[in-house]
Amino acid sequence: MAKPVIMSVDDDPQVLTAIERDLRQHYKNDYRVLKAGSAQEALDAARQLKQRGTPVALFLVDQRMPEMTGTKLLAEMRELHPDSRKVLLTAYADSEVAIEGINEIGLDHYLMKPWDPPDQKLYPVLDDLLSEWKNRVHLPYDGIRIAGARFSPQSHAVREFLSRNLVPYQWIDIDEDPSMRELVAAFPGGLARLPVVLFPDGSYLSAPSNLTLAEKVGLHTRPKSPFYDVAVIGAGPAGLANTVYAATEGMRVVLIEQNAPGGQAGSSSRIENYLGFPNGISGADLAQRASAQARRFGAELLTAQEVVGIRREDPYRILQLADGSEISAYAVVITTGMAVRRLERPGIEPLMGYGVYYGPALSEAVTYRGQDVCIVGGANSAGQGALFFSRYARRVTIIIRAPALSPSMSHYLVERINATENIHVVSRVDVAAVRGNGHLEQIVLRELETAQERTVDAAAMFICIGTAPHSGIATGLLDCDEKGFICTGPDLPRINGRPRGWTLERDPLLFETNVPGIFAAGDVRSGANRRVASAVGEGSAAIYSIHRYLATV
Ligand SMILES: Cc1cc2nc3c(=O)[nH]c(=O)nc-3n(C[C@H](O)[C@H](O)[C@H](O)COP(=O)(O)OP(=O)(O)OC[C@H]3O[C@@H](n4cnc5c(N)ncnc54)[C@H](O)[C@@H]3O)c2cc1C
Repeated sequence: MAKPVIMSVDDDPQVLTAIERDLRQHYKNDYRVLKAGSAQEALDAARQLKQRGTPVALFLVDQRMPEMTGTKLLAEMRELHPDSRKVLLTAYADSEVAIEGINEIGLDHYLMKPWDPPDQKLYPVLDDLLSEWKNRVHLPYDGIRIAGARFSPQSHAVREFLSRNLVPYQWIDIDEDPSMRELVAAFPGGLARLPVVLFPDGSYLSAPSNLTLAEKVGLHTRPKSPFYDVAVIGAGPAGLANTVYAATEGMRVVLIEQNAPGGQAGSSSRIENYLGFPNGISGADLAQRASAQARRFGAELLTAQEVVGIRREDPYRILQLADGSEISAYAVVITTGMAVRRLERPGIEPLMGYGVYYGPALSEAVTYRGQDVCIVGGANSAGQGALFFSRYARRVTIIIRAPALSPSMSHYLVERINATENIHVVSRVDVAAVRGNGHLEQIVLRELETAQERTVDAAAMFICIGTAPHSGIATGLLDCDEKGFICTGPDLPRINGRPRGWTLERDPLLFETNVPGIFAAGDVRSGANRRVASAVGEGSAAIYSIHRYLATV
């Protein structure tokens, strides 16, 4: 934690040097003593300190300065550092102004010049004020701070990204902190470029992309080598398992993830059906353990890097990344899983991130503490989300089209939901529209049988209505089923008994697509059983096929 600051401000260089000397002599062990030769210099420094999160314990300001009076400057400082103690340096003739200041700006004290001897006239007063400040002030957080608005989609995305990459941060809602709002408004782009991520070294990023932020916080985003034996796309359970097994088999392997390790499982508050964890495990914990395991065996994990295309240049498979760079490998494994399905209803698009979210956005739970939230959908992800939010929200309403939660939701979740007092299920309804002025306020529900409409008040709505495959990178190159899932091995469609474009003597291996050396595993694969254990199993088992393929190149 950086030392708190004592700042003295005076336009007379001699007085300024003298006060700084006396302050340093007495306070240098516990405080950083700063000086400013003008009101503007002081304001700039105070803004910088606010940006860094460094507290100012005390301002000692001369009343008579040409560009701004001391009382006016202290009034501005009060906005930036409301908890600081404020002392005015006055000449005898200014004492009336100082007394007025006590009422108007909450001046804590005024000191007559000269203050000699400081042991009698300066330190006793300041010691008192500083010990009072210390007792009252809760010293601020010393790490990364995100200043944004609760209803800003980009603020939500940045928080989610850092949380899922296990980077600690402090969240500051600028609607509840006027001085931070003012500071953010003064950055280039102002309030239109939220959030602003503030770093302890005083630097900041406005509305950063995942890649920029990842690089700044030291996540690994660039490959160390241009070539690998295996390149795995997507760090969900399938990709992580595949990477661990490839690395333990001695292959040079890189895993490329567009967001953070964990995939869909990473957004699960508790996975209870994964072998070996009788009390369940959170998806984030599972992802962290798997990432550590993969790194331990020498695998490279890139985060915040999206693969946008795959090219075949035999014997190499070349991945194009969103930043324009490329990675080559002998074999590629696509474990890109699924993305949440969209709900097209009037009002949803403009309120995205303003109370409407796709998936159970766990990082938002605290935001909606004590409020009413709705979960749309009846699968396990909706059930887990409802149980998680019920610990924070006043009331959680699950909205489903079916007559009951079973059978789309696992029995153990249904039982737990039934036993949770603040979770309610509204069945046989559809979301007809959502309404809200700047953020979600109401959901319009339509009865499926009668088409009658009614509204429910809600501060947040989490849409968990299923998923669609993340298989865009396969378009034109790989065969997919009618829903877009990638076909592999014996499931590949055949023309005259052979997969499309297949020229080899042998048949495609298990998990191999219609392009030799490109494999698919986990949820993105046609016919997969969409569960964590299945994804892990497929990712691990695919290594056997990859081994056999690598023996041929
Ligand atoms: C909220 C929730 C709760 C769940 N709970 C359970 C449970 O309790 N038990 C259970 O068995 N199953 C559960 N599931 C299902 C389970 O999480 C999935 O079956 C499993 O995660 C699938 O793993 P995967 O690796 O195939 O894909 P995913 O987990 O979908 O991971 C795919 C990864 O690929 C990345 N990616 C996609 N495209 C690209 C690209 N172009 N470039 C780089 N990266 C890319 C994605 O960002 C993602 O991280 C749950 C799912 C959800 C959403």
